[in-house]
Amino acid sequence: MSKAFDLKKGLRALNDNYDHPYWEEPADRCLSCGNCINVCPTCFCYRTTEESTVDQAVTARTRQWDACQNKDFAAVHGGNFRPERVDRIRQWVYHKINWSIEQYGVSGCVGCGRCVTWCPTAIDITEPVWRLGGKDIGFRA
Ligand code: SF4
Ligand code: SF4
Repeated sequence: MSKAFDLKKGLRALNDNYDHPYWEEPADRCLSCGNCINVCPTCFCYRTTEESTVDQAVTARTRQWDACQNKDFAAVHGGNFRPERVDRIRQWVYHKINWSIEQYGVSGCVGCGRCVTWCPTAIDITEPVWRLGGKDIGFRA
C-alpha cells in the first residue's frame, strides 16, 4: 500500500481522458480472465440465472458472483454494451476509482494491490492514473 497520488488531480486526469488512446494499451494486454475481480475485496457484481423444470413445478432464480471483465457481463437482450476489452477495462478502472466516489462517497479501491499481484499480464490499476495524469498528480510508487 505504498503507492499514493493526489486524489482530486487523479480523478480529474481520468475524467478528462475517457477517450484517450492510452486505454488501448492495457486493453491489448488484458486476457479478460477476471482474476483482478476475483481477488478484489470490494467487488460485488453478480449475475442472476433463472431456471425451471420442464413442467415448471420448480423454478429458481440464483445469484452468482460475476466480473465486469468477463466478455458477457454486459450482454443483455439484443446486444452487449461493453463488447470490447477496452470497454471493460475502462469500466473496471473508472468504477473503482471515480464512480464509486461519485455514487457512494468512498473509493471502490482500498489500495491492497491484490489485482496487480494476480494479473497474469501485470496490469496495474494505478497505471492509468499516472500515465494520464503525468507529474501533476504527484504519484509515488
Ligand atoms: S488494489 Fe483496489 S481494485 Fe485492486 S484488488 Fe485491491 S481494492 Fe480491488
Ligand atoms: S487480471 Fe489482468 S488480464 Fe485478467 S481481467 Fe484483470 S486486468 Fe485483465
